[in-house]
Amino acid sequence: MKSIKKLEHQQVQKDPITGAIPLTSTSTKHLLNEILKSASQSTLVFDLDSTLLNNRPRNAVIMREFGELHHEPLLINAEAEHFQDWSARNAMAAMGVSSQFIEHLDKLYQPFWFERFFTSDYCQHDINIPGAAEFVAAVSEQGGTICYVTGRHEGMRAGTQSSLEKLNFPMPGSKNVMLLMKPDKHQSDDLFKVLTLQKLGTLDPICAAFDNEPTHINSYRTAFPNANCVHLLTDHSMREVKLLNGIISIQNFIR
Ligand SMILES: [Mg+2]
Repeated sequence: MKSIKKLEHQQVQKDPITGAIPLTSTSTKHLLNEILKSASQSTLVFDLDSTLLNNRPRNAVIMREFGELHHEPLLINAEAEHFQDWSARNAMAAMGVSSQFIEHLDKLYQPFWFERFFTSDYCQHDINIPGAAEFVAAVSEQGGTICYVTGRHEGMRAGTQSSLEKLNFPMPGSKNVMLLMKPDKHQSDDLFKVLTLQKLGTLDPICAAFDNEPTHINSYRTAFPNANCVHLLTDHSMREVKLLNGIISIQNFIR
């Protein structure tokens, strides 16, 4: 990895699970601009969910529909801000639902959520992580190859494409832009991402990889030690996985 000098971290506590400390906004800009300088004739790998895209509005829509179905006024008012992580229980608590009632509701909510969240229709509700579309477009302008690698399954390709288009990302299928998705909804995200490493190794050299999931950014770090491996400190699966040395954490793509 070409070392990038003078990166400074925020004066905050480490993330208790990943050990991540995000860069300051000035250092984030510096890092992103340095990566852009080496993007030409290189490949940049981008995860989608919680890396380029914020899924909280999608979760809020599903929660509101669930609230309407079950006539639960607190849930009908669900907003993206109620979702600070992937836990529906935490979101319900933030909406003021009692812990005893959450136990009951969550059992009903999980299958309701699962049927909707992983569909083309619902991924239309996602929004950009700040600066994400502009950064990926800048990579494209520099002549870099963009490889979106997502744990979304092929059944979500149409909705994913239209969401990327709506949010002004470079479109899969255009020159030097590809979208790798899980062939099967039930394949684990971890296995899929490991299997894609082989394919990525056949492309132009990997200049940078971005992913919010510690397990995945760690696997990029191991497979591509010369790349800038950048962790998005947004949210993650809450598994006890520490980031490997050399991985840099940022919170957005604002340049
Ligand atoms: Mg992700």
